[in-house]
Amino acid sequence: MATKVTKIGVLTSGGDSPGMNAAIRAVVRTGIYHGMEVFGVMRGYSGMIDDDIVKMESRSVANIIQRGGTILKCARSKQFLTPEGRQIAYENLKKRGINGLVIIGGDGSFRGAQKFSNEFDIPCIGLPGTIDKDIAGSDFTIGFDTAVNTAVDAIDKIRDTADAHDRLFIVEVMGRDAGYIALHSGIATGAENILIPETKTDIEELIDSLGEKEKRKKLVNLVVVAEGDDFGGGNEVAKIIKERMPTTDTRLCILGHIQRGGSPTCLDRLIASRMGYHAVESLIEGRHNVMVGILNNRMNYIPLDFAVKAKQRISKEWMKIVKILAS
Ligand code: ADP
Repeated sequence: MATKVTKIGVLTSGGDSPGMNAAIRAVVRTGIYHGMEVFGVMRGYSGMIDDDIVKMESRSVANIIQRGGTILKCARSKQFLTPEGRQIAYENLKKRGINGLVIIGGDGSFRGAQKFSNEFDIPCIGLPGTIDKDIAGSDFTIGFDTAVNTAVDAIDKIRDTADAHDRLFIVEVMGRDAGYIALHSGIATGAENILIPETKTDIEELIDSLGEKEKRKKLVNLVVVAEGDDFGGGNEVAKIIKERMPTTDTRLCILGHIQRGGSPTCLDRLIASRMGYHAVESLIEGRHNVMVGILNNRMNYIPLDFAVKAKQRISKEWMKIVKILAS
């Protein structure tokens, strides 16, 4: 029978995403509600190795639900990649009696969690915290909705200035491996073309379609590019468009890190709260090495290795919709 989980650690790892604080709050308060001791591990796996672990009380998470970033800080840890590093991490948890972990992060953090829980007797529960939505098994990831709304807000502003000057704007949004921010923000802002890592970019087709729209005197031309598009990010795309369409006034705007910050949207606060609550419930129920996701409005528990390997697929229909609506 699984050991009763009485002391849990919570950490945020890898890249930060808005809503992580709401998830930490939910984990801490649900744990305390169940009579557990809850510890915050600072700076992801680095804090486990450096023994930077703090006791959390209900009041430790007061006034954070509306704040972006993470009060526990985020970090990447090279040492955790080694068996020796993970052994030190384990000993630091063990000496406090921590016998359950909640890891809020992306697929890299889940890979680490899986390795750790295979080696040691500490069950790990993952919560998908990533703005990229590049994890299978959940319709939502904590931070995506905020990031995409930030991108929409910024692109709407770019559209105003593009319109005033009849300019063609290339806007680069985040997404090294996944095009969801580009796809959602591009559709929501009426972009003419959306370039994402999941589909092969046909640069000739792009130039043709922009040239044709110019001929038809389309008022605003916006191309949204995910940073990880197979042709290259915004810089590469802008370079080739400038070369091939020298008379068009083309500008590039890279949105960058503003997409990671800011107050989380209502949706991100809700899913973070729900997932955080279910992470603790899962530990109590004896689950281990699973990611807590939400699918079709139901909680979904999938093995961490599935969350790691599988990526979400982007339906071809979306790309068709983009083309039709941008005509
Ligand atoms: P994210 O969780 O946002 O995808 P990373 O890919 O940087 O971020 O992963 C976060 C941390 O998880 C890494 O710095 C490392 O400490 C740990 N990690 C990632 N992959 C592994 C692995 N294969 N084995 C052990 N730890 C890993």
